Amino acid sequence: MKQKIWLSLAHMGGKEQQYIQEAFDTNWVVPLGPNVDGFEKDLNEYLGNEKNIVALSSGTAAIHLGLIQIGVGPGDEVICQSFTFSATANPIKYVGATPVFVDSESETWNMSPALLEETINDRIAKTGKVPKVIMPVHLYGMPAKMDEIMAIANKYEISVLEDAAEALGSKYKGKFCGTFGHFACLSFNGNKIITTSGGGALVCSTIEEAAKTKFYATQARDNAPHYQHSHIGYNYRMSNICAGIGRGQMLILDEHVSYRRKINILYKELLKETPGISFLENPNKDFESNMWLTCIIVDPKLAGFTREDLRLKMESENIETRPLWKPMHLQPVFEDCPFYGDGTSEKLFEMGLCLPSSPVLTSEDIERVVGIIKGMNKK
Ligand SMILES: *Cc1c(COP(=O)(O)O)cnc(C)c1O
Repeated sequence: MKQKIWLSLAHMGGKEQQYIQEAFDTNWVVPLGPNVDGFEKDLNEYLGNEKNIVALSSGTAAIHLGLIQIGVGPGDEVICQSFTFSATANPIKYVGATPVFVDSESETWNMSPALLEETINDRIAKTGKVPKVIMPVHLYGMPAKMDEIMAIANKYEISVLEDAAEALGSKYKGKFCGTFGHFACLSFNGNKIITTSGGGALVCSTIEEAAKTKFYATQARDNAPHYQHSHIGYNYRMSNICAGIGRGQMLILDEHVSYRRKINILYKELLKETPGISFLENPNKDFESNMWLTCIIVDPKLAGFTREDLRLKMESENIETRPLWKPMHLQPVFEDCPFYGDGTSEKLFEMGLCLPSSPVLTSEDIERVVGIIKGMNKK
């Protein structure tokens, strides 16, 4: 059996253990501590020091606390990109609100501004209420069309909670993803662009919101010598050990981004003029994806094989690939939720595949993957 090629592996830079060792040496093997503060500072500096970032136990927790602070609750509607991972939408249910799913446009594969405005108007007509939040996602690291989305959000005075879980290091019009919305979530799960083994962060606009996020994330303790609570709290804070890994990863974030971009360029070069294979690409120079995963579309009429044929062939060759995210409006758990679409995300799901994109891949690995695609082309 040939050596396994994974879809996306974590990669350590070397300094991570040093930060963890420091935590052990100073007996900060508890939640919070200097690594948490340090990691938040590193993230703030990276994103340009215009926001206030709180490190949490996951990206999902970040979305949950963002929705809570916007004041979303039962009876509210939250407009959410349908083409995403379930972690974007689940917290809408945690707070008792209703997700309203919106389809993607075909350039970035993210929330369609035209469908977004249609959705808002139809929801106002049907419910008499303006939706409370808009949740665009920068899927696979590709920035959503944030100018158009923010203009619509401002026009209808709706808060934006950006899901930048896959997009740390990506930029739109020279500005980092995760800095457009009133809140944004980041994720440091195992296979994301950097990892803390598990973790996330909420990007807040104000210091007060950051303080409130920390309050909710540490069981909502009032200021008193005993344990006193006036709000429901959560245990969502990042630990000092995980944050130590994060500090080490911040040192190699830019390296990871440029490596993943290189992998993407190599795939595109090697598969140029291969019938039936096209890529998710930056639509123009306003978009600078971190290329977290290289994604292709397989057009079976031109390629002579389907996406699923290709995935199975890769599996038999010990290469892990994955279909694009299955849209939320097609998920049994969300089947009762409203959806506004034109078939774009359904087609992407049917025809799309993520190729191995780890920062540990060699050009020989890429050539092996490409060789299989080209081999299938000939049959
Ligand atoms: C990974 C991910 C999340 C959730 O992050 P976790 O840290 O795993 O909770 C949310 N949204 C998207 C699009 C993701 O890919």
